[in-house]
Amino acid sequence: MPTKQKKYTCPHCEAELQAFELPEAGGWDQKHHLACFNNDCSYYRRGWDWMLAHYNAKVSYRYRLDPESGKDSPIAVWSETALLDRIVNTDVVPAKKKAPKKPVKKAVKPVKKKAQKKDVRRVKPKSRAK
Ligand SMILES: [Zn+2]
Repeated sequence: MPTKQKKYTCPHCEAELQAFELPEAGGWDQKHHLACFNNDCSYYRRGWDWMLAHYNAKVSYRYRLDPESGKDSPIAVWSETALLDRIVNTDVVPAKKKAPKKPVKKAVKPVKKKAQKKDVRRVKPKSRAK
């Protein structure tokens, strides 16, 4: 079998697009589309801010490509893991073994609370009644 499969990459982050299964209610001819599932994708990253600013919605979208028509369009996602369960494991053998990139989380130091002395000064109301 010739491996003539063209590799599609995201124009925004150059990550390889992954096939995912379309929701059945989507009304698409194909069963699968390709999308960029890179969480560091600039397109996807910008989407959060953009949607929040324009629609006050906490959603974003990923770059999606219809391999049949070559048309791309955004596909809405509502979380970082949305649609991930739909990714189809094609028989494409990944050329490079990708080390899973873990987002570097800043170590959150527990904030030591200073034992604050309670400043319970009692303010006596001045009786100015004269
Ligand atoms: Zn991308």
